[in-house]
Amino acid sequence: MKIQTLDAFIEIMRATIPVRRKMVVDYLLEGRTDPELIRHLKRFLNTIGEVPDQEGLKLFNLFGDHTARVDVTYETEELKKDIWFFENGEQVFTEHMESINHNFFREVDRGISFLSGLEFNSFISDRDGTVNNYCGRYSTSVQSAYNAIYLARFAAGKTRNTVILTSAPLGNGGLQDISVFPEKVFHYAGSKGREYADKKGREGKFPVDDEKQKVLDALNKDLAKLVGMEKYKIFSRIGSGLQLKFGQTTIARQDIHKSVPEDRSLGFLKKIRSMVADHDPEDVYFRIEDTGLDIEIILTIDKGDEGVKDFDKGDGIDFLDSALDLRLDEGINLICGDTASDIPMVEAAMKKNGETRAIFVTKNSDIQRKVGKLCPHSMFVENPDVLVSLLNQISLI
Ligand SMILES: [Mg+2]
Repeated sequence: MKIQTLDAFIEIMRATIPVRRKMVVDYLLEGRTDPELIRHLKRFLNTIGEVPDQEGLKLFNLFGDHTARVDVTYETEELKKDIWFFENGEQVFTEHMESINHNFFREVDRGISFLSGLEFNSFISDRDGTVNNYCGRYSTSVQSAYNAIYLARFAAGKTRNTVILTSAPLGNGGLQDISVFPEKVFHYAGSKGREYADKKGREGKFPVDDEKQKVLDALNKDLAKLVGMEKYKIFSRIGSGLQLKFGQTTIARQDIHKSVPEDRSLGFLKKIRSMVADHDPEDVYFRIEDTGLDIEIILTIDKGDEGVKDFDKGDGIDFLDSALDLRLDEGINLICGDTASDIPMVEAAMKKNGETRAIFVTKNSDIQRKVGKLCPHSMFVENPDVLVSLLNQISLI
């Protein structure tokens, strides 16, 4: 099968989800997987490999005359890793990880001594860039099977509760849809913790003022209509695409490879600003943040004495502590993240329990300093491969 469009590529990546889910469950239960499923993954990888490329980027047709240059490193590398894992076994796979990551064994050993002997009440972790390698496009950032196996072992063996807490939405192509974890092990929290599906499948949402919600719903409806139009469709396909989170909406206007001509991208930003102004003429419900790639439309929350502020992941932890009955004050908790937006998680967890441990995946000295100041028991590793591998190793001890 040959693919030419970005939509076809997204479909291929989606098709890996049920295959990987089956591999994870089989492997965790029986320690093996059906070789036919490995062949499936190889076929997906070959199909992507046949797409023509230029300077390492794949060229996909995108709506009429437009060609998108797409970085598929995450998708292909994670497929290769899964194939390595199931074909050659865990020992060989670990050596493969060492060959692609500098200082891998040394970093893993350092993490093992940091966590050694501890059992965790709650393990709360960000996903992208922390326990999952970073992918610039949410629609295809499907979790790899080995990653789900490693994290499931740690969650089941060393924690009472594990929460994956992300800023992405929970459903509609969000966190739950691209995860291949086994059922009943993980709590999923989307939209920075404003919405969750617990490990028994129960769902809940942070209460948002009815009036505000109505305004956001109306805006989201208009946005979906807008990117359904031929002229604007491209913005729902590149980068972050359109993500209707609970309490926040993200719409891409550019991707890191500058697939969209800059004047068209700026025109779209202007269009979005005026659409938001139509829904919020008094400027009381939303705040717009333009990252140059994404336009974030954020619903503000009223925190009483702290005034009106943006909901952050620390607010998410406060909400989830009671909603999921985490009892964060009762035992040692582990918080993992990779960017500044994850720091409020450490702050919130430390307020509940001074025995909190933090591992951040970052080389950024500013983030390291801030986390270290908040949390005396903290450490830093270089990439998600190291973090998930050390969590796996520690659960096997
Ligand atoms: Mg992250």
